[in-house]
Formats: sequence, structure tokens, C-alpha cells
Amino acid sequence: MSELLVKNAALAAGDKSDIFIRDGFIAEVAETIDGVPDNVPVLDAGGCLVTAPFVDCHFHLDATLSYGLPRVNQSGTLLEGIKLWGELKPYLTADALIERALTLCRWSIARGTLAIRTHVDISDPSLLAVEAMLEVKRQMAPFIDFQLVAFPQDGLLRADCMDNLVRALDMGVDVVGGIPHFERTMEHGARSVALLCELAAKRGLLVDMHCDESDDPLSRHVESLAMETIRLGMQGRVAGSHLTSMHSMDNYYVSKLLPLMREAELHVIANPLINITLQGRHDTYPKRRGMTRVPEQMAAGLTVAFGHDCVMDPWYPLGSHDMLEVASMGLHVAQMTGLNQMHHCFDAVTHDPAKILHLENYGLHKGCNGDLVILQANDVIDALRLKPPRIAVVRRGKVISATQPVRYDLTLGETKVQTDLTTTDLVWR
Ligand SMILES: [Zn+2]
Repeated sequence: MSELLVKNAALAAGDKSDIFIRDGFIAEVAETIDGVPDNVPVLDAGGCLVTAPFVDCHFHLDATLSYGLPRVNQSGTLLEGIKLWGELKPYLTADALIERALTLCRWSIARGTLAIRTHVDISDPSLLAVEAMLEVKRQMAPFIDFQLVAFPQDGLLRADCMDNLVRALDMGVDVVGGIPHFERTMEHGARSVALLCELAAKRGLLVDMHCDESDDPLSRHVESLAMETIRLGMQGRVAGSHLTSMHSMDNYYVSKLLPLMREAELHVIANPLINITLQGRHDTYPKRRGMTRVPEQMAAGLTVAFGHDCVMDPWYPLGSHDMLEVASMGLHVAQMTGLNQMHHCFDAVTHDPAKILHLENYGLHKGCNGDLVILQANDVIDALRLKPPRIAVVRRGKVISATQPVRYDLTLGETKVQTDLTTTDLVWR
């Protein structure tokens, strides 16, 4: 029997709590837990924020850490990124893909990200990336919950790769993906959405499509995705990733679209770091932000999550798989600086993506998985502001990553003071 007692946790809602984990599950959450035998290990959170692990609902693990191979993206656009990835594909090997992905997984764990939905390119008939990512999923299963999405990067119809996609699902890929805006015509885009949703419905699988990742206000595949979801009775099982064209759409059209998305219970996944980087590249000034209409979608009752999407790959040169960086960027781009809005941005990298992934036993309640992260922060706002060290990352009741809190020693003339960038010491607050 394995046990762990986490003391003095500050929860996201603001209450203080102890958390007792037994045999990999949370057995008790209470203000004070007494009577635990002396031999049970104790992890003192010291009043710091404790959260359920971060969840990244949109990532590309097969392309990660390939930045600069074989060259960098000069225009900074989505389309050059896709072209560049195509140039790299003939040189990929399973060993290199696995090595890069496992390195990224270590970063993810250190950042407290313990669930990842990753799109895997199935355009190549060899399905090399699928085999490699299934191997990574197998090796990392004790530490990270992976969902793989069969992603036809070059277009389902454009690259004629339905056979590859079906084979990838047969090999154990979990979710049906798509990229309707990259098909040759709007009509082909709509047809690809219908074909993929029908396949998912037949197999009882979730759907997550790259959808309308464009500044074109007339890119309206999200409408087809919502309608197919309703037609096939898949409400709550389908996600539209990116939806950046919604940023540029006509307001009247959006007022009709949002209720349709609500009727379909369509989930929304915005990728703030990537959207602000790739979109608006054809604009001079004013330059569009390109992220989808996050606050309006939340207000319409949709589940909206933020994904990281890329780390050091053909589309994005930066990143360390820190979901707090993602939430912070989303908050800024959507101008969600209200107190409740900032909490929503934190939920968009924790509870909301967990819901989209249909993760079981996620959370910090009795009966949930014994997974949590201790941050060097007093509360959620501090976490968003500082993106602080994850002091401890716990998976199924075991500490799998730890670091020391960061404090700065200042020498100001004769005075020596310490700061940790929080307002804890202020008297006149
Ligand atoms: Zn993506």
C-alpha cells in the first residue's frame, strides 16, 4: 500500500486543505487531516497553490524539437510550416522521432503537464510517425496520459490518405483528426468533415479537427463540423481546434454560428501562442490577433480550452511546454483580465481540456487520481503572473519531479533582502 499526505495546500478556489493519497487515488481532502500514521511520507506545500495537473489538449509530438531541420520558417506562416515539415519528412527516422518526443515529455513532466492530446501525421503511407508515437505513449504511460489523433496533415482528400488514417486507427490511434481548410476547395473541405465524422461515429471515437486555421472570414468549416456532429448524434464528443477564422468573421454570421456550436456541444481549442504567431501574417496594419473568440464562446456556454500546439518545430521556434505560458498568452490576446476571466484562463489549461479529452478521475476530489502539482505561487493569479517553478509534481501518489523554490538574494548597499516576486511581505495590502 502506497500513501502520501500533502499538507498545507492552497486550492485554486482559495480554500486551504490537506490531501491524502492512498494506492494512487485521493482518499481524503479536508482542511486538516489528522491521525495519519507517522511512517506515511508527508509533502508540505507550505501554503502554496496545489492544482490538478496541467492538460495540453493540442500538441504535435511528432514534429517537436525539430526546429531548424532542414531550415527555419522564413515567412512565419502556417503554409510555409507545412511545406517545411514536408521537406523534413523523407529524412525522419523512428529513433530520432522517439528521442525528440521523450525529451519533450521530460519537459512536460517538469512543467506539471501530465495529459497530452497529440496530433500525429498520417499522410505518409509508412506511418512511421504513428509507430514512433505509439512507442512513446507506451513508454510514458506510467507518467503521462496520451491521446493520439490521426491527423491528415496534407489533407484527407488532397493527399488521398483515408486508407492511412484507417490503418492508424487500427494500430491504436485514439481520435479522428482532419484539416478541412487545407483541402483544395471549400466543397472538399466540407466533404472531408462529413467523411471523418462518419468514420468516428461508426467506430465510437472522439473527433478533433484542425478547423479554419486561417484569417479568411469565409472559411466556415466549423459550421459543417457542428452540423455533422448534430446529424450523427456526437454532441460533446467533437472538438474544433484553432477556429481562427472566427476572429475575422462577420459579427452577424457569428451570432448565428455560436448557437449552432452550442447545439452541437462542440468543444473549442484555441492555441494562443501559435495563433498570435502564425495569424495576421498577410496583414499590414492594423494587424489581426487571429485567436478565435474565446470570451464570447465561453459566454455562449461552450467548453473552451487552450493548447500549446508546438514547441521548437517548423511552426514555432520557442516554448518549453509550459501550459502557464499558454494560459498567460491566451489571457493577454483575449484581454481576459477580469478576476473571473483569469480563473477561466487557468481552467482552460486544467479542467476544461480534461473534459474535452474525457479524462477519467481528473481533479482534486476524493476518488480522483492521486495526481497534483505544487507551484511556487500563492494563488491562481500568481501562477498566471509568474509562471513559477513546479516545486513538486505528483503522479498516482508518487513525486516524479521536484525542484527548490526560487528566491533572489539582493544586496542593496548595506541591506540584504530576499524576494520571491510575490506580495506576501507587504503590510499595507
Ligand atoms: Zn495543431
